[in-house]
Amino acid sequence: MRKVSIFGATGSIGQSTIDLIARDPDAYQVVALSGGRNVAQLAADARRLNAQVAVTAFDDCYDDLKAALAGSGIEAAAGAGAMDGAAKRPADWVMSAIVGAAGLKPGLLALEQGATLALANKESLVCAGELVRRTAAQNGGTLLPVDSEHSAVFQALIGEDRAAVERVIITASGGAFRDWSLDQMAAATPEQAATHPNWAMGQRITIDSASMFNKALEVIETHELFGFREDQIEVVVHPESLVHALIGFSDGGIMAHLGPADMRHAIGFALHWPERDHVPVERLDLTQIGALTFRAPDETRYPALRLAREVMQAGGLMGAVFNAAKETALDGFLGHRIGFLQMAEVVEEVLARLSSDPCLTNDTMTLESVLETDQMARQTAETVINDLQT
Ligand code: NDP
Ligand code: MG
Repeated sequence: MRKVSIFGATGSIGQSTIDLIARDPDAYQVVALSGGRNVAQLAADARRLNAQVAVTAFDDCYDDLKAALAGSGIEAAAGAGAMDGAAKRPADWVMSAIVGAAGLKPGLLALEQGATLALANKESLVCAGELVRRTAAQNGGTLLPVDSEHSAVFQALIGEDRAAVERVIITASGGAFRDWSLDQMAAATPEQAATHPNWAMGQRITIDSASMFNKALEVIETHELFGFREDQIEVVVHPESLVHALIGFSDGGIMAHLGPADMRHAIGFALHWPERDHVPVERLDLTQIGALTFRAPDETRYPALRLAREVMQAGGLMGAVFNAAKETALDGFLGHRIGFLQMAEVVEEVLARLSSDPCLTNDTMTLESVLETDQMARQTAETVINDLQT
């Protein structure tokens, strides 16, 4: 039996992962499940999968979790130390599906145990790509992409000569506002931004899709995971969300990866890798689909893409600055403190204020330096948001 743990089990990716694992209970022994505030879901899944331990990231959720697990024999735990402890428990395969920079440490701890880390938490790579790769390499851990575009790139590269790759194209749906005017986008509410035309995802990534910050993070993720240069990575808007990525080779050929807009494909691929096995997703009928369309992203509407390229060129800890500023700006938008388009303004201003700090581009990357940078960028972003409001 394979030992598996799921961090972010109560979220959209976590629930899709549980759906796959619960279909084959004899194949998996569930070690740890982690969640945040949705304690009822966490406890229900821990009971269903007979997990060894269920952990909530928040101390104040402990009593509810303990009560919900009473009589089950499943350990209940809460808080940062308990999250670390759960990530250190030996497991063969670990899903990293916490949202935000909070997902970095559990992923690193799992890699330190030599686990295979199925990485949905793209923020880990944006904040600390070099550290994540180094931790995997030094401890015999394996990193597998779960983001649909990156799973697609990974799959399209199997058996190919990396040196023959000219370019990588990742697709973007365009999110909720792909056909909105800039004036409409300026007045958009969090509720409007949190609806996605094709994918059912958590609230934060859905809003990041509408602003293209999600795609901006994914451009950096492509660079960090596969080592392609910034100028080799392209983004095209593809409203149907059926082609997830394409690899262009030196002979002019292009390998495209297609699949339904269902994250269980990419999760299932990572779960079964290096083999392929049945995954219960819809089979595409190309004759029903009829047409696939593509267009260039408009960088005046989506400054996030330009900012991501500047961050990659700067390197070092600027990815951690970018991600933390983006997370804080998103909180500002969700709290109705800034408008939708002001999220990019905040991030650009934070990057400008911190880019002159030589420590951010030269220092060796450690978990401590990443977390310190993350905090500094969040504080700077708060200041910028306050300045915008007054
Ligand atoms: P959700 O918001 O649906 O779920 C987030 C999970 O993280 C929940 O389990 C939540 O707990 C937990 N969580 C929230 N805050 C914290 C915290 N501070 N510490 C520990 N745990 C926390 O997100 P998604 O599933 O949509 O996304 C998860 C990750 O996967 C993100 O990095 C996202 O970018 C990536 N991803 C998602 C895709 C998707 O289709 N959803 C596609 C590709 C990548 P609770 O809800 O109990 O509070
Ligand atoms: Mg994606």
